[in-house]
Amino acid sequence: MKIILLGAPGSGKGTLAKNIVKDFSLAHISTGDMFRECVKSGSELGNKVKSIMDSGALVPDEVTIEIVKDRLSKDDCKNGFILDGFPRTIKQAEALEKISQIDTVILVDLSKEEIIERLSARRTCLKCGSTFNKNDVPNGKCLNCESELIQRDDDKPLTISNRLEVYEKNTAPLINFYSDRLVKFSSAGTPEETYRPVKAFLKKLEA
Ligand code: ADP
Ligand code: ZN
Repeated sequence: MKIILLGAPGSGKGTLAKNIVKDFSLAHISTGDMFRECVKSGSELGNKVKSIMDSGALVPDEVTIEIVKDRLSKDDCKNGFILDGFPRTIKQAEALEKISQIDTVILVDLSKEEIIERLSARRTCLKCGSTFNKNDVPNGKCLNCESELIQRDDDKPLTISNRLEVYEKNTAPLINFYSDRLVKFSSAGTPEETYRPVKAFLKKLEA
């Protein structure tokens, strides 16, 4: 299976992807995670990427497409993969068509009000990448690895509104682009509630 998770920032793509790869042997490819790794490395590209991410803008298509192309050529993608955060522009989607044939696009659907609320309350583990709602972790420590949780620079109010604008303008048009392969799931419930119908859908697809 070759799957794209499409949805606004904060809609719950990453959490859903993590649940999916526990049950299905698919490579989880998160461009956001890849770019955060790149920033950590402190390279020249990493520094450029950091200032782009902090502003809520998108990393240039050429850079992003190259990184994803390289990643998709790795062995663990042979049995299928799940793209989380890519493509984010029509240009990226067009490039992807030339690299691989996508079966299904899952649209992760959440209201704008709920998105803003979730992003503002999101805390991220710098060590393992897990995310939590700040109300669920009173001591500010990761429930997986006990490390310190932080608020990502791009989860601060001004950047959040930029990211949502960027999503509407650049990424939402992909809903039309993929209309022949699109299935929509609400992520208004808990992670488990969100995952259940998706799992049932993917089991059928796999059969
Ligand atoms: P979220 O989905 O919560 O916005 P991500 O972790 O997916 O967060 O992405 C964080 C940032 O990384 C984006 O705001 C953008 O700057 C950059 N980024 C991630 N994926 C892409 C992409 N496909 N194209 C361009 N920039 C990207
Ligand atoms: Zn952790």
